[in-house]
Amino acid sequence: MISLNNKAILDMPIAELVISAEKVAHVQSGNSAEHALLVLTKTGYSSVPVLDVKYRLQGLLSTKMITEEILGLERIEYDRLASIKVEDVMDQEVAYLKITDTFRRALDLVINHAFLCVIEEDGTFAGIMTRRVILKQLKKHIYSNEF
Ligand code: AMP
Repeated sequence: MISLNNKAILDMPIAELVISAEKVAHVQSGNSAEHALLVLTKTGYSSVPVLDVKYRLQGLLSTKMITEEILGLERIEYDRLASIKVEDVMDQEVAYLKITDTFRRALDLVINHAFLCVIEEDGTFAGIMTRRVILKQLKKHIYSNEF
């Protein structure tokens, strides 16, 4: 049975836990794979959101998606990076949260994703919610209910 305390955290809105868009490294769908690889390498993030020019979420891009695309039979074809676009290699099947969603939905989705993109009601990108932030919130909740 779910206790009242647990129901409170599960029903909590996610908005205050979101890392806001201006703090999130992203690439644009029309960017070259060369630029995207620079962003991924410099930031050290395993994957970043892909947005269009109107700041709408288009997908996710990881270093692996780029390197797989330029992997030749005998060598990595770095010279192709400039001519490949982010939209050609990104993953478009993205699990995302709406800014009005609750912690319960975030918890369900974050099991399979290190972070989740969050979108505003008008479809623009609001930011991300990371597994780290969700675990910290859960830890706070569990410890405060220990005694
Ligand atoms: P962390 O919780 O910091 O370990 O982040 C987990 C993943 O979320 C990272 O590997 C990135 O893919 C993504 N991420 C976290 N913070 C940011 C950020 N500020 N900008 C872009 N992606 C991020």
